Amino acid sequence: MSTSTVNDFLFMLAVVSGSLGLFLLYFGWHGKRLDYRPICKKCKFDLHGLLKSSERCPECGVSLRIQQNIQLGQRAPIKGLIAISIAMILFGVVTIAWQGTIMASQMNWLRMAKTSSLIQDLESTNIANETESSRELARRVASNHVSVEEFNSIYTIALARQADASRPWVNSYGDVLELSMLADEASDEERVQILTNAITPTLILMPETTEGELEAMSLGIKSGGVRLGSGGRVALAVELRSFAVDGGEPQTVENPMRATISIFGGSSPSILAQRIPISLEAGDHHIQTTWTIMLVSVEINGESDGNIEDSESRTLATSEFVLENTLSIQ
Ligand SMILES: [Zn+2]
Repeated sequence: MSTSTVNDFLFMLAVVSGSLGLFLLYFGWHGKRLDYRPICKKCKFDLHGLLKSSERCPECGVSLRIQQNIQLGQRAPIKGLIAISIAMILFGVVTIAWQGTIMASQMNWLRMAKTSSLIQDLESTNIANETESSRELARRVASNHVSVEEFNSIYTIALARQADASRPWVNSYGDVLELSMLADEASDEERVQILTNAITPTLILMPETTEGELEAMSLGIKSGGVRLGSGGRVALAVELRSFAVDGGEPQTVENPMRATISIFGGSSPSILAQRIPISLEAGDHHIQTTWTIMLVSVEINGESDGNIEDSESRTLATSEFVLENTLSIQ
């Protein structure tokens, strides 16, 4: 695709130059009056002194009683003006054609494509094709410009695509998935599937030590690359349910903190959710945890300014995750 852009000033200049050129060409062609002697308009015969005595042109015979047949003075084309006007017209035509070609190359052909052919593009092995077509399809889904059958096809492909971790993620599929959850098109099972496939969470363990003594550990989650949409319409809420140290009995967290983070497609947010007072010997310790992770909606048009707790959010999907990692104490 061409990277050049339409130059508005140049385009206007070309239009003005072309129009002015046509205008000047008329005057140049019409020419300037050389004298005021009457001549026959048809054959240019000099009629000086003949108008009163003759009924007809002596040369070609047209009637001299008709005013339109007599021209006052000879005219000569103004060659310089004709040359300039032709140059101006040429500049106008060439520039308009050139800028027009750029405009045509920049027209959004995707907007004109049929939804069915865009859906076919999703099967394309060309990732650029797939990305552009899915973005246009997501736009049509968002503005309700697809039929129920078309929506079902797009949604089914988006679900399968999200589950296929071997292929690079395309955010527009996530936009479709988010929209389907917000519009209650997704079933409960599909919601859980969407959440589970959206993240590959890992456990964050941060020891807090004072004078070399372990006082507590903070636990959190790193989402991994997020396979969701690009609009930040959804957020992740996490709660630590239980933890077990070195294969011991799992301990239930009585009043789990809920930590919420806005997520955008492709981003990999992390958050600390819970601080637990703990006493452990120096060395490596295996920590196993269970978490409730929720996908919640975020109001984008409302007053919500990142403070998700205050806005009217709705849980779209909930899933349990078991995560483990090693806590190293120096
Ligand atoms: Zn004549």
